[in-house]
Order: sequence, then structure tokens, then C-alpha cells
Amino acid sequence: MKRVYMDHASTTPVDPFVLEAMLPYFSEKFGNASSMHSFGVDARRALDESRIRASAAINSNPDEIVFTSGGTESDNLAIKGTAYGNKKRHIITDRIEHKAVLNPCRFLEEKGFKVTYLPVDRYGLVDITEVEKSITKDTFLISVMHANNEIGTIQPIEEIGEIAADKGIIFHTDAVQTAGKLPLNMKKMNVDLLSISSHKLYGPKGVGALYVREGARLEPLIHGGGHEKNLRSGTENIPGIVGFSHALELSVKKMSEDSERLTRLRDRLIKGVLEVDCCRLNGHPKKRLQNNAHFTFPNMKQIDLVSELSRKNIYASAASACSAHSTGASHVLSAIGLTAEEACKSLRLTLGRINNEEDIEYVIEKIQYLTKNGCQITENI
Ligand SMILES: *Cc1c(COP(=O)(O)O)cnc(C)c1O
Repeated sequence: MKRVYMDHASTTPVDPFVLEAMLPYFSEKFGNASSMHSFGVDARRALDESRIRASAAINSNPDEIVFTSGGTESDNLAIKGTAYGNKKRHIITDRIEHKAVLNPCRFLEEKGFKVTYLPVDRYGLVDITEVEKSITKDTFLISVMHANNEIGTIQPIEEIGEIAADKGIIFHTDAVQTAGKLPLNMKKMNVDLLSISSHKLYGPKGVGALYVREGARLEPLIHGGGHEKNLRSGTENIPGIVGFSHALELSVKKMSEDSERLTRLRDRLIKGVLEVDCCRLNGHPKKRLQNNAHFTFPNMKQIDLVSELSRKNIYASAASACSAHSTGASHVLSAIGLTAEEACKSLRLTLGRINNEEDIEYVIEKIQYLTKNGCQITENI
């Protein structure tokens, strides 16, 4: 039976080459990188090589890479680490950030910080003049994601970074959805802090990195033995870090080839699904991730499209919880102007290396079938 995984924005399978590179570090090379004997030396070498490999992939210096447990920790370290000990009190972010950015900001608000949550337009774009207008003498941090995980919209982070640099404000970007998909060049981009997660780019789960520009002042969140230049204590996850660095390097190597192929598949998918009478595309038509397609079927009957598709072995995401265990509609969809009901009739499909033309045609056919049977065209329009 055919199985089509189209939820790569949630997570990706570990690339076989990456897994291969990791394996020795679970068994014969199991050392602690802080040990003086040869087991420790092997682990330390793997750690150093991984740092060089990861930094080369984003054109940074090796000592600007802090390995973490993933995107969530990197975002927390960037935001709370910059806030702690800072005399200034104002942060600028936007309404469609991942929870890993929004919730540290909410936490800091409870501790007396001020946060501006910028609105976005109907495509999910942050307006750079709004960023400029929100800056006060008290602003120390701007955090705007590189691309959105739900609707795939790519933000003008280079321009925002320029504004921040001009005013001497730290600029953080959550690049979890773009690392390995869009070029990242820390020598060229005005970014001070950048979050990456391994499991979104065909690496293992539970590992990632925060790029910290030389000279950026950060307080650690985890205190202990002083690992990672005292920014992230705890015995290093060597197999994870080795896997992550190889996955990142591989994604950069395959970037143009993958990107070209995925763009073509995505455009075919969008074209096919938009043939459904009542269907709309969410996110920006051009400034969007090559692997993201996000739709609303406003006139569809309340059927659970994600469950129906999973019954056909197509694995997608609603990106907004409308079921019994829901915590409310997606903050992203509501920020771009969708009603709660429209948000519940939305579907995210995110492509990856394992998808091919046949998958696309299969998915289009099943969506057309399911929505036709669930679709009530409103009479009087
Ligand atoms: C997945 C994701 C995260 C969280 O990363 P984890 O490694 O799963 O903690 C943060 N930001 C964005 C945009 C994401 O897509």
C-alpha cells in the first residue's frame, strides 16, 4: 500500500548517510569529550569537526556555533539569554512566530519586559516600516523568523537585520524552517543570533544550534560544567551533534538540486489542489518555502481532512487543532485574517526529498475526491 509522507515541516526522516556517520559514536567511540584519555580525545575531535562542518554550512566562524537540544532551546537561549542582565526592557517580534519564540516573550512580559507583537499582512509578511516605527530607546532585541512553519512565508530578514544593526539592536531569527533550504551566510546577513534544528533537515531529533555572532552578550540558561563556552553546560550529545552537522552539510550540498525539484513538485501540487472549486492558497504566492503548500477549503463541510487523508495513507497536517484535544485555532492563520472556522478547514502539505511526481498526483486525486464529496458550494454567490 502506498504511503505518502507530506509533513516535512513537522519532522524529517534521518538521512541514511547521516545515520551511518552517527553510529560509531553510540558504540566504540562513546567517550566524553571532557575526558583526557583517548576515548575523550576521539569525542573531542568529533565535536570540533562537527563545529567546523556546521559553521562552514552557514559561513560563520566555528566558535560562533553553540550546540543545543534543538530549535526550542536555541530560541529560548537567544531571547531569554539576551534579556537576562540587560538594562533595556523592550523586545520586538511578530504575531506569527513559533511558540518557541512567542512563549519565552510572554514569560519575559510576566517578568516586567515589554514586547511588541507586530501584525502581518494577509500573506503573512512583516512590514519593515512597522519594525522601524516600533523601535524605542529601550529596544534591545528584534526577533523575526526567516520563514513560517505553517504557511511558508519568507520574511525580509536582511532588511530587518539592517535596521537592527543601524540602531545597535540585537537581531535574532528562527531559521529552523530555512536552514538547508535557503542560503544562510552569516558573514553577509545582518543576523546576530540564528536558530537551527537538526530534525527539520534530515538529522536526528533533540539537537540543533544557535549561531551567536562574536561579541553578542548572552547569559546561559543552563549552568553547570561550562560546556559550549559556558553558554550551554552538560555533556555534549556527540552522536547527535555529529549527525546534525552532517545533515546540515548535506542539505547545503543538495540545496539547489532539491530546491529546483521541490519547487516544481510544489507548483504542480498547488495547481492541482486549486482546481477544487472552493479552495484558496494561504501564504505568499512567491515569497514562500519551496516545500510548502497550505490551503483553505472554505465551503467544505466540516470533515476532518487530515484524518480522511491519513486513512488513504497520506500524512499531512492541519497546522491548526480543531479536534477534541485542541488548544484553539492556529495563531498564524488568525493573524493572516482567517476565521476560526476557516482555520479548521485548512490543510498543510510540506514536501521533502522522499516525495516524487507520483505522490503529487496521488495526493491531488485524493484531495479532489474528498473535498468534492465534502464540498457544498454556497448557492447565492
Ligand atoms: C520545529 C520548529 C521549532 C522547534 O524546534 P525543535 O527542534 O522541535 O525544538 C522552532 N521554530 C520553528 C519555526 C519550527 O518549525
